[in-house]
Amino acid sequence: MLFNELNLNPKLLRGIAERGYTELTAVQERTLAVTLRGRDAAVQSQTGTGKTAAFLITLFESLLGGDAQRWRSALIIVPTRELAVQIEGEARLLNRHLGFTIGCFYGGVGYELQQDLLRKGVNIIIGTPGRLIDLSEKGLMKLKEVGLLVIDEADRLFDMGFLPDIKKLLQKMTSPRVRQSMLFSATLSRISRKVAADHMNRPEFIELTPENLTVDTITQELYHVKSHIKLNLLLGILRKENPRNALIFVNMRHSAFKLAKKLEINGFRARYISGDLPQVKRLKVIDDFMTGKFAILVATDVAARGLHIEGLEMVVNYDLPQDHENYVHRIGRTARAGNTGKAVSLACEKYSEHLYGIENFIKMRIPEKTAGLDMFATDRSLEYAPEKRDRQDGGKRFGSGRGDGKRPERSGPRFQRRPSMA
Ligand code: ADP
Ligand code: MG
Repeated sequence: MLFNELNLNPKLLRGIAERGYTELTAVQERTLAVTLRGRDAAVQSQTGTGKTAAFLITLFESLLGGDAQRWRSALIIVPTRELAVQIEGEARLLNRHLGFTIGCFYGGVGYELQQDLLRKGVNIIIGTPGRLIDLSEKGLMKLKEVGLLVIDEADRLFDMGFLPDIKKLLQKMTSPRVRQSMLFSATLSRISRKVAADHMNRPEFIELTPENLTVDTITQELYHVKSHIKLNLLLGILRKENPRNALIFVNMRHSAFKLAKKLEINGFRARYISGDLPQVKRLKVIDDFMTGKFAILVATDVAARGLHIEGLEMVVNYDLPQDHENYVHRIGRTARAGNTGKAVSLACEKYSEHLYGIENFIKMRIPEKTAGLDMFATDRSLEYAPEKRDRQDGGKRFGSGRGDGKRPERSGPRFQRRPSMA
């Protein structure tokens, strides 16, 4: 179905066309059929299927149709600041000919700017739970005026422990009957369903579980490898495939830092994001990755949730995810909206037990590959490690963006062994 065939406001249609969308995705078709009639919906659809535009178009169309309706503001609750910023970007594009005000509200930044915005009035508020509660308790944000509500990445919100916060926010709002509410998630867990049932107005449950949970356009590969040589295989794969960019997933925060550092020492332009990196820094790293300032981003699931990187060529599961659904979220970062992509998984003795659950969940066997000896590359961080103790810069050079991200230099002053080691 084409957007033109929807009876949308012509100015909104223009924004959609200029954004480059002509045909609705499946989830957009199913969702808009319900939400454009003003009904509530709880929608499950895999990552990368276009849920954002589905709710934004609903919000804009509703805000535009102000005839008998009283003025209503729209609130979008998201789990992370990164996601808030991304949705804001998409909203601004679609808003091009509409002139609504859009504001992003999250923690870690000063209140002044956000306060100013609120005083002027914001039509579409996008925010993370903590800051929204703060602003509402300070009397700066009037949640009673919210006539349109979106809870995005619902399951992730609840995974991250935001359920009490969400409940608190919902209690501050008007009754579900006088607002339109929508909930979106890649999965619909019991908690999400319960929240929808309790706090929405007889929502329609829309579920798009494709036969194959993974996107067809992603080439999946699996290597079995012992953990002590996993890095060597990763280095070999990165050199052989030579992707323009790659997102590498690990299971632990500290592994993210360590792996990025080792990749750097091996000549790749790599950085990391994890939950314990300050928000401002995380955002900057993501921004730099998106604009191609460096080639490899190492991330944990929480830090990478909801990230959209246009043209991401490769996803690597350096650690197999413990939660099988995360496998789908992770590899769904690549091959978005019709592009092709590659997802490589390394199953080591530590995490290979999760393979069974993953394959059960995606209802397919991930094609296995065997790595020949030529696939294992030398890890230079090993020969380099003893020197670290003597270094004066405390590793500050990490993340300096050295190298071309393709081939490590054979040798350079920084990699020279100390005489005692030679
Ligand atoms: P989700 O929230 O379901 O994970 P997004 O809303 O982030 O997915 O959309 C994924 C990608 O698909 C984005 O790059 C977006 O611009 C693109 N997209 C969304 N709707 C369409 C459409 N109708 N036609 C083409 N591309 C689309
Ligand atoms: Mg989304």
